[in-house]
Amino acid sequence: MMKKLMISDQKHQEIYVPKRITVIPGKSMQRRMFLASVGAIAAAFAAPRWVKAMAEPTGPSEHSQDSGRDAFFLLPLTKITIGGEFHRRVFDLIENNLLKLDIEKVYLDPFLSRQFPPDQWVFMGTGVLLRSAANFELFSGDSRISDKRKLITQKLISAQDESGYIGVRLLGATWKNNYEPEDAADIMQGFSAVHRHFGNAAALGTAEKLARAMMTAYPLGTEIRHEAIDLPEGFDDLYELTHDESYVDYYAYIPYESAAKSFGFIAGYEFPEDQIGRTQVHCYANFERSRGQLLLYRRRPDPQLLESSQQIIDFLCKRNGMYIIGSTGNNEQWRPPKNGSPETCATAYLLLLLHEMIRISGDLEYGDLMERTIYNALFAAPTGDSSKIRYHNPMEGVRAFEAPWKCCENNYRRVLSELPQMIYYASSGNIAINLFTGSQAEFSHIEPAGLIRMRQETAYPTGERILIYIDPQYEAEFSLTVRIPRWCNSARLKVNGQSMAIVPNDRKCIIHRRWTAGDKVEIELPMSIRIIKAPETVMGYTPDGIRAALPDPYAGRIAVLRGPQVFCLNHDLNARRNGNTVFEDDKVVIDPETLRGPMPDNTARPDGVHLSVKGWSSSGKISGKHDLDLLLTEYPDEGGTITYLYCSDIALSVPDEFTRFGEK
Ligand SMILES: [Zn+2]
Repeated sequence: MMKKLMISDQKHQEIYVPKRITVIPGKSMQRRMFLASVGAIAAAFAAPRWVKAMAEPTGPSEHSQDSGRDAFFLLPLTKITIGGEFHRRVFDLIENNLLKLDIEKVYLDPFLSRQFPPDQWVFMGTGVLLRSAANFELFSGDSRISDKRKLITQKLISAQDESGYIGVRLLGATWKNNYEPEDAADIMQGFSAVHRHFGNAAALGTAEKLARAMMTAYPLGTEIRHEAIDLPEGFDDLYELTHDESYVDYYAYIPYESAAKSFGFIAGYEFPEDQIGRTQVHCYANFERSRGQLLLYRRRPDPQLLESSQQIIDFLCKRNGMYIIGSTGNNEQWRPPKNGSPETCATAYLLLLLHEMIRISGDLEYGDLMERTIYNALFAAPTGDSSKIRYHNPMEGVRAFEAPWKCCENNYRRVLSELPQMIYYASSGNIAINLFTGSQAEFSHIEPAGLIRMRQETAYPTGERILIYIDPQYEAEFSLTVRIPRWCNSARLKVNGQSMAIVPNDRKCIIHRRWTAGDKVEIELPMSIRIIKAPETVMGYTPDGIRAALPDPYAGRIAVLRGPQVFCLNHDLNARRNGNTVFEDDKVVIDPETLRGPMPDNTARPDGVHLSVKGWSSSGKISGKHDLDLLLTEYPDEGGTITYLYCSDIALSVPDEFTRFGEK
């Protein structure tokens, strides 16, 4: 039964009815001219408030994907090394998953044998796998990954037929159904990464020929099959490498399927928040579509293209659109009743969206959301050894591993391969520290500092202390911007032992000074335990079809957090701890006065922590002695079975700090 549900849940169904999108090709061209004119005078428009903090343009870029309009540019993967939990996660994934894959059989043979008829639903994800492998290879310099990357590249190139098509369909049945445009766009981005990182002109040529084949099969003005996730990125990458404007026109204006169940087209996309609960609204595709608008904004800066992203973030933070673990959706869709089992793809694309928002706006507050997502939903997506990656990630019940899903597996690999680039960002005269994790980075964009070496030493989020060593080649004046998470209202910062004033509620600290070799910044982010109450309501539709605030399924319960980490209850571990006591997870009541910790605990990861708390096995017992002595483990604990618990004194709980996102 579950299997059937999963299949019908896959991507091949009606998504939602859009408010305004009907594409008339002539209108598209008019709109393109409008956008071009907007681009020229974009600065005169009032940008949405999420870019109000936009920093100075970055000037010359170190990375080919960057635009001079972005507030921040990316640090190349070759300039970063990582330590701590990030290192473990990335390198476990490489060793236990990527290098163990039978890539030829699973990911390449179907392109060479081409046996799938047009009516069989099949998504390969091979292009995203190629992109991740190229990133991991560049980052690690591991020749075993290089061999895999070269194999994928060579076999996909050889799979291209004379028409330019690369896919798994029978001869004569190409471009007829379901995920072909998505797979093709993924292959384009995979080849683009190979060319960007290793200068492979054959890969770029193959990608361009594939793009032309797709543009011929689905010319502008006709509708492309299904939602074609990743189409913007595939074509935007080609634009980046070739400066051929027709690629931008294409991904901006190609309409998706028939108007009745369309996502419209990228340039006109609107987040359909009011449809959630009435029709199927696909989380991953909506994150991707909104992010596609940000890619387009880089090319043609119409401020309207920034609106859907902010609306999605506001929905997640302020209108109970996100779970406490930093992800969203019930399987693939936002649908009532809210029920926490996000798709890994949604988690991955939320992170990719936040990453673009930071780059464009320069606003590190998106980093607060990022770390909630990374330490909880993202790191809970694979099994503990990173050998397998889940599709469903239930917040309640057993976290079973089901058959592998190529979308989730590859999007997880891709995000891990780009995670190192979310730690630091840079702009003219400035280096920003977004994520706290052991790492080293090299910057060379600040004159006259020469090469600036930066080292971060920390046991975060187990530890609260972060040491930053800054070593410019030549003494120079520049800024170091440190994100101060909203959950921390007692941050302390010292430069070479001297305390710096931190402006309350500013959520960042900018240290502007003359830096010299051997300078040291110490950051303390004290982590008190927070008891966060679940929201009481969630917007949806009544059985009569009336849009209304409905009771949230977790209303009346709380989640326990420390810093960016959510804690969960592992049923079996706690049953053993309490002499094999029989209790039901969703009846447990904790006594918040007894919360203690953190204490060292390796259940979820090496060098991890747990909290302890006493409680009762049911609400009927809370007038008597505690009958449960519980350990709460870090959310990625594979044995975690419940996250929202009852609490004997709900008055001690507070709303999630993200309900004040964007506020002072
Ligand atoms: Zn997926």
